[in-house]
Amino acid sequence: MDFRYYGDEQGFGAGRLITNFDLESESQILPEQLFVEGVDFRAIFAALAEGVALTGNEDFTFDYEYIYLHIRTHEAPAQQDSYTVLPLPLTEFEGMWVGPAPETPPTGARMAITFDDGPHGRFTPQLLDALASRNISGTFFLMGPTARAYPQIVERMHSEGHQIGNHSYSHSLLTRLSSAQIRKEIDDTDSIIYGITGIIPTLVRPPFGGYNDQVLAVMAEMGKSIVNWSVDPRDWYHRNAEIVRDNILAHARDGSIVLVHDIHESSIQGAIMAIDILLARGYNFVTVSELYRLADLELRPGAVYRGLYRD
Ligand code: ZN
Repeated sequence: MDFRYYGDEQGFGAGRLITNFDLESESQILPEQLFVEGVDFRAIFAALAEGVALTGNEDFTFDYEYIYLHIRTHEAPAQQDSYTVLPLPLTEFEGMWVGPAPETPPTGARMAITFDDGPHGRFTPQLLDALASRNISGTFFLMGPTARAYPQIVERMHSEGHQIGNHSYSHSLLTRLSSAQIRKEIDDTDSIIYGITGIIPTLVRPPFGGYNDQVLAVMAEMGKSIVNWSVDPRDWYHRNAEIVRDNILAHARDGSIVLVHDIHESSIQGAIMAIDILLARGYNFVTVSELYRLADLELRPGAVYRGLYRD
């Protein structure tokens, strides 16, 4: 079941319905659908809340790890409603929970997480720290000007085993450009990356994922493969780490290519939270080239890739 929770963009605003939606039926998931019939789940909420006074009417959301109980509080001086969120581990509801459960990945399941539009001077080093401490590799699709602005970060990506791809120079929609202009967009960023790392990327992520026959022809001539994605958490829109995490978890599976932008702090936080959960489920994270190489597949110039399996 694909699901996400519904709150407002900041999280949990007063007066809003806070719940989970089933994206397939586009309907609210009711508490009765989540627990074995007859289970007094509210009593368990109260027991786990440990001294926090509940009305017995609290809204809650969930993901694959927790139920998030939204406890309304009245804050002086404005007497406005606000909420605190209390996470209750789903393990406490074993035998009672019949809500969505994560699919167990096949042995050796792997996916590639990709980061666009960077590097960002402050957030990308934080991300690199997080990836290093988990010993996992990602793929960074860099823009020319930002790569030039942060050569030490680009060098660090390269030396720490991440793959570097080309995300154009000016972030223009390549389908609106002439062949010569497309070539220049890629060449200019290639030269900057080459100047820093000594490698010329073979992977291109066109801005907005946009391509047409002309773009593909230029990529073929330049020896480049286009890499788009199969999981798009729309992190640039939501700017909320929990939503980014949930959107990744709801769609990521064996062979996925996940798109995130490392220029937003919430995107990085959400991606790392999702990575931790997916690692615990047994997934490995590899670069895009590794993902295909380990599946005995070749990335051909002028072709488009968006993950190993169709969603
Ligand atoms: Zn982009």
